[in-house]
This record gives sequence, structure tokens and C-alpha cells, in this order.
Amino acid sequence: MESSNINLVVGAGFSGAVIANLIATELNEEVLVIDKKDHIAGNCYDYRDKNGIMIHKYGSHIFHTKSEKVWNYLKQFTDFNTYMHKVVGILDGIETHIPFNFNTLYDVFPQTLAQRLEQKLLDIFEINSKVPILEFQKQDDDDLKFLANYVYEKIFLHYTTKQWGVSPEEVDGAVTARVPVYLSKDNRYFQDKYQGIPLDGYTKVVERILDHKNIKIKLNTDYKDLRDKCFKRVFYTGPIDEFYNYKFGQLPYRSVYFKFETYDKEYYQSNACVNYPCNYDFTRIHEYKYYLDDKSDKTVIAKEYSEFFELGKNERYYPIPNDENTKLYEKYLEEAKKAENIYFLGRLGDYKYYDMDKAILRAIELFEEIKK
Ligand code: FAD
Ligand code: UDP
Repeated sequence: MESSNINLVVGAGFSGAVIANLIATELNEEVLVIDKKDHIAGNCYDYRDKNGIMIHKYGSHIFHTKSEKVWNYLKQFTDFNTYMHKVVGILDGIETHIPFNFNTLYDVFPQTLAQRLEQKLLDIFEINSKVPILEFQKQDDDDLKFLANYVYEKIFLHYTTKQWGVSPEEVDGAVTARVPVYLSKDNRYFQDKYQGIPLDGYTKVVERILDHKNIKIKLNTDYKDLRDKCFKRVFYTGPIDEFYNYKFGQLPYRSVYFKFETYDKEYYQSNACVNYPCNYDFTRIHEYKYYLDDKSDKTVIAKEYSEFFELGKNERYYPIPNDENTKLYEKYLEEAKKAENIYFLGRLGDYKYYDMDKAILRAIELFEEIKK
């Protein structure tokens, strides 16, 4: 199938699948999609195990978006349940809500203190506002200073150090701002209008996105085996530094790994995701059967651990946003702008901390540019 009339898409995750689908359906052109893994769906890959429980192999994936465009695009391929994600964490031995909100306040402090803090917070902040922890720490009032230090220490300091290997001040503010202090009684992790889990799982969604007569898929295939071949366009969702043979140096990533355990009981914990900001060396425990309300007398959990990415040792999971890495990425981006008919996208191609919806939107918008 390789020839100059054919488009090559490197990577069969959401980014690659969506761009392949749009080229195949709207331009009626042929597309070869390759992935070096032995499955499609990239980091969103899921499968039902022998107990009938849907396992997210590379960590829990909860779909959420404000974008009607992304939602309508995905709805062509799947229905979603009405799951709204909540996270609890263990703070001082108490299981309570994360992000820190007014309910957390009343869970961890005596009522009179909680009432005083709530009133002071409402004097300063709008109800339902979201305040990043690094902002929240800028308080003059002694009570609120105490509260900010509590939240920083109990929720952010140790979790962030485990997750990123550095303190919250040393990671980009946008990362910790994903989990703000929320001046609300809303216990949900996301407030997006659209959220849920695809009823048949993510792998099925990607399979349907790729199911088109113009699309051919080759798994266990690395781009380096095809790089001398000629294609009409190449869409590259792998790491941009690898594409350029690391000529400016390696872009750093965090990696994660999961320890899976099966238990002979219906549930292991009270919630799909329990964070352990202050205890243990893992960051959180996922219990998969909650996502699609799977019924089984067994349950499967995964403890999530974080470490630096090292070439040849583990996988890239999280780009590390900071000024130095952005500058390095921009050198590659300059190089990419000179290349003809090669387009970089996705979490690895753009070196951006995309959630699924942002990766999908990026692919749709890139297609709209190309179509012009
Ligand atoms: P990927 O899924 O990484 O796909 C890239 C593909 O390219 C891979 O399959 C890879 O094998 C392939 N590839 C790379 N190099 C080559 C090569 N040289 N040759 C051939 N193939 C190659 N998002 C949410 O919205 N909600 C969540 O709850 C959520 N949870 C997450 C939890 C974790 C632990 C992680 C790491 C991410 C999470 N995300 C979540 C983000 C989500 O995984 C990404 O947005 C999404 O996977 C991006 O898709 P992608 O196609 O850009 O990248
Ligand atoms: N975070 C934290 N404590 C928590 C939850 C999150 O310190 O209990 C910080 C941490 O730095 C984390 C970031 O907030 O990397 C973003 O959290 P999120 O849950 O969005 O991360 P993801 O699900 O993408 O790993």
C-alpha cells in the first residue's frame, strides 16, 4: 500500500485515529496507520479481563470536555454512561474529597473552625471559584494562611513530589492548577458539561474511528522501518525529539507504572480513585469496576507509581511543562515547520499535557487547516 498517494499516520492513539478518520472520510484518501505497540488506542487502551472487568491498561481514563465539537464527533462512535468522576484522598487518616472544597473543610476540621474559615473564604473569594494552590497560598489573614499551608502540605507537597520528582513550586503552575482549591460543595473532579465513560470502552471507540475502507492498520510496526518510503503526508503522533534523532537533546518525560492486584471480594475501596497524598510511595489506587459498573465477585485495582522516563527502560507518559523544556521543544518545532507534508500532533508530537478531548480537538483542527 506504500506509495506517494497514501497518507501515513504514525500512532493509533486518539490523535492518530481521528486524523486518519477525517482524511479517509472527508478527503476520500487512503491512509496507512502504524503503531509500534501490538494494539490500537495508545494510552487509552482498555480490555475486559477474565472477570469481565474493563481494565484501563495505562491508568484510569475519564472522558470530560467542554467542547461540543469534540463531544459530537465522538458521539458518532459511542454512547457514554453518565459517570461523573469523583476523587477521594486520605488526609490525616480521614477519607475526604479532592479537590479540597467546603465539604473537605468540614471533614477535616472541627465545625467551629470550619465555619470561621468558610466565612473568611467567602469574604475574599467568589462562591464556586477555583483557586490554584500557588495563588491560594498568598494570604494575609492568619487563619487563611494556616488553611493554605494545610492544603499545600496535605494534598500537594508530597503527591507532587512523588508524581514529578520535584516540589509544587518547581512544576509549571498549570499542572497543580488542574486540581484547584474549589470554593464550592461540588465534589466532582471535573465540572465539564460533557463527561462519561464510553459504554464499550475506549479501544472499541478507536476501532470504530479507524473502521473505514480507506484505512489500513499495521501494528508492531515502527516508523523507523518506513521512514525511507514516500507518502503523500505523514502525521506523526510519536515523540518529536525521537523523529529528529534527538539532534537538540532529549525532551524529558515522567513515566508511570501500575501494580495490578485482584481481590476475591466485590469492592476494595469506596471509590474509583483514592489518592494517597501523604502516605505510601504510590500516588493513587484505581479500582476499575466502578467506571462501567461492572458486576463480578472479584475486583481489580492498580496502584500507580511515578518515575522519570528513561530511553529503553520505560514509556513516555507525561511531558514535563517548564520553560527549559518548552525552549527545547520549540527548537524541534522550528525544524518541523521546515519539513514538507509532515505534521506533528498528539501528546508526544506536540509535547503537550493533553487530555483526550484536547488531543481529539487538535486532530480535528489540524484537519480543518489541511482541508482549506
Ligand atoms: P498516545 O495515546 O500516547 O498514542 C501515541 C501512539 O503512537 C502510541 O500508541 C505509540 O505506541 C505510537 N508510537 C509512538 N512512536 C511510534 C513510532 N516510532 N512508530 C509507531 N508508533 C509509534 N486524558 C483524559 O482525558 N482523561 C483521563 O482520565 C486521562 N488519564 C490519563 C492517565 C494517564 C496515566 C496518562 C498517561 C494519560 C491520561 N490521559 C487522560 C491523557 C490521554 O492518555 C491522552 O490525551 C491521549 O492518550 C493522547 O492520545 P495520543 O494519540 O496523542 O497519544
Ligand atoms: N495533585 C496533587 N495532589 C492530588 C492530586 C493532584 O498534588 O491529590 C497535583 C499533582 O501535581 C498532579 C496535578 O495536581 O500531577 C494534576 O493532577 P491530575 O489528577 O489532573 O493529574 P493526572 O490525572 O493527569 O495524572
